[in-house]
Amino acid sequence: MKPVFAKLEKSLSDIKAGGLFRKMRYLETPQAPYARIGGREVLLLSSNNYLGLCNDDRLKKAACDTVNAYGVGSGGARLLTGSYELHRRLEQELAVFKGTEACLVFNTGYMANLGTISALTDKNWVIFSDSLNHASIIDGCRMSGARVVVYNHCDMADLQRKVSAWRPEFALIVTDGIFSVDGDIAPLPDIVEIAQRRGILTMVDDAHATGVLGPHGSGTSDYFGLRDKIDIQMGTLSKALASEGGYVAGRRVLIDYLVNRARSFIFSTALAPAAIAVSLEALDIIRTEPQRRESLLADAIWLQERLRSAGFHVPESRTPIIAIIVGDPDIAVSFGEALFAEDIYIPAIRPPTVPHGTSRLRISLMATHTRADLERAADAIERVGHRMGVLGSK
Ligand code: PMP
Repeated sequence: MKPVFAKLEKSLSDIKAGGLFRKMRYLETPQAPYARIGGREVLLLSSNNYLGLCNDDRLKKAACDTVNAYGVGSGGARLLTGSYELHRRLEQELAVFKGTEACLVFNTGYMANLGTISALTDKNWVIFSDSLNHASIIDGCRMSGARVVVYNHCDMADLQRKVSAWRPEFALIVTDGIFSVDGDIAPLPDIVEIAQRRGILTMVDDAHATGVLGPHGSGTSDYFGLRDKIDIQMGTLSKALASEGGYVAGRRVLIDYLVNRARSFIFSTALAPAAIAVSLEALDIIRTEPQRRESLLADAIWLQERLRSAGFHVPESRTPIIAIIVGDPDIAVSFGEALFAEDIYIPAIRPPTVPHGTSRLRISLMATHTRADLERAADAIERVGHRMGVLGSK
């Protein structure tokens, strides 16, 4: 065996010893409140399918019709033969949805962050980045060569202090809109104010907020009434929109620049037409069925209050993401496994995804869960919590 494989074995055994080894579970049925995994029918409380559209008949029909009309693969990169009229329509509709001049669709949200940040910024820039930003933002910052100044999570005094300490020619403040680990919302009004005073560019990653927050369902800038104040609104089409892809919305000059400079956009084959048609259909549902996001958010508030009153440490969240902090990664994993044995799937989230000492179970809800589903889950979580000593014994 070549020595490098022994090195990999050693790293894996270190990961296992730290309780951080990851493995996948495979679904045998559609993404819905109940799914079959490993032959078991489980209540899925960990999906990004926020609006419950992954198995929606209208989206499935849009995909099938588009496959029949256009075939399957896109056949090329966007700047070669992979751009279809459907791509143009989706970009125009997303720009209207986000209240911006223009929009560009990338193949994933990850690629949107990587391509945008690394194309836009360089060693002459300072990027102010929230300490809990998503990995794709962190990786984009690393690739850019810019000076990265990390501010404490949602701590506006710390951001202000750090912004005041630097006088760069160009600067960017970048933040998740909804943070995927706690489900909390970035304080955009304060960020906009700090940025405006110094002419700093603002960028928000609305992967979890698109389709979920705001009167139009278009994300955190919509939620705060700041759609014209955020320079770069990024998001994904793979969560509430139940499709695939990422997008960046903003000024026309920014979008034209990204088309010419964002390497993750230029050097990758375009998304298939069917995926684009699914996003268009989902966008239509978001515009016409606000009741989906309204009931989703009402359910989220109900469940977190129920868990908090049972005695769990559940950070305040106005979003469909609910964290139950347990601290130790092994306890988080055993808690998740014990729930799985009761046919409830809520995975443990551990370092490096979250800071040490804050391992947790993370619930994310779908609009298609019923209150009865959530009551059943809450009862089971409480029962297992007592059994495992996360809650005082009963
Ligand atoms: N940003 C955030 C905050 C995310 O949670 C994710 C997905 N987990 C992404 C970006 C990446 O989006 P995608 O899954 O479309 O690559």
